[in-house]
Amino acid sequence: MTKNLVVGADVGGTNVKYVLVDSDRQCLAQDEIPTDPADPQGTIARLADTLRSRPGEGSSALAGVGLACAGIVSRANGTLGRSPNLPGWQNSDLFGALRATFGPLAFIVANDVNAALYGEFRFGAGRGCRHLVMIALGTGVGGGVIVDRQLVTGHGDGAGEIGHMTLQLDGPPCPCGNRGCLESYCGSVGLLREARRLGRDPDASPAWRAMVERRGDQLTTRDCHELAARQDRTALGLFHAAGQRLGQAVASLVNVLAPDRVIIGGGVAQAGDLLLAPCRAMVATQVMSDAGRLTPVVPAELGPFAAAMGAAALAAEAGTVP
Ligand SMILES: [Zn+2]
Repeated sequence: MTKNLVVGADVGGTNVKYVLVDSDRQCLAQDEIPTDPADPQGTIARLADTLRSRPGEGSSALAGVGLACAGIVSRANGTLGRSPNLPGWQNSDLFGALRATFGPLAFIVANDVNAALYGEFRFGAGRGCRHLVMIALGTGVGGGVIVDRQLVTGHGDGAGEIGHMTLQLDGPPCPCGNRGCLESYCGSVGLLREARRLGRDPDASPAWRAMVERRGDQLTTRDCHELAARQDRTALGLFHAAGQRLGQAVASLVNVLAPDRVIIGGGVAQAGDLLLAPCRAMVATQVMSDAGRLTPVVPAELGPFAAAMGAAALAAEAGTVP
């Protein structure tokens, strides 16, 4: 049997999203299994069992496995370092666990946002590009950079922390310990903190203040979108300000890296043009070069399986020049 299938798996705090991809880049399966937050080896073994139980090719045709995890991932050593979402997996030898379960295949491990960027590069919003930047606006803000079709991991695998670009020295506090990081404005935690502050502001719209009070601890970015969709001036102002902060970061990245395209993903990005229009306007005025001011800033295309798709592509290309 020819070995032509690869698995990509995105390990989150509660679930592992996985895809099975063939040599024509067709996705044969996508599903999820629970993550055991204390047991990487057991979780990987369960993934292997799930694949073996598939009718047809099973796992005997597997050529490689790619694993994406939130946190600092050493791609060379296959180890996971600091990982707020997977504290029980910290300092684990993922290459060792993969080898013990699957035998001698091609393995890669990658940071989850880097993997999502690679997925968009191969299958989604970044197809055909040579230089790409992705910013993922979730609870926190992650980032990834591709230069000359290669993921940039940098010294100590520390590259791509776009969420921790300082935009304002005396800005809101960020979980990283600094103030005024992009994450503190555009991650959902930062955005909702500002939303609540506006809920106490007598100048905010009555509808806004009522919504914040009614939703209390249950307030979500979706509540904020919904009010913005009804043209509430405070909701529109919240996203406009966050979009401008995003644009500040994107403009600096365009000045430094001159990417072909900038991809914006993650749950907060579902606000769409509420965020992207002020972001693009900022890029159009802040970037130095004429070409750079026109850099497309586009939404991600692949959705929640982007990192699994990217991990599969990285595994398929392991040892080859993309
Ligand atoms: Zn920070």
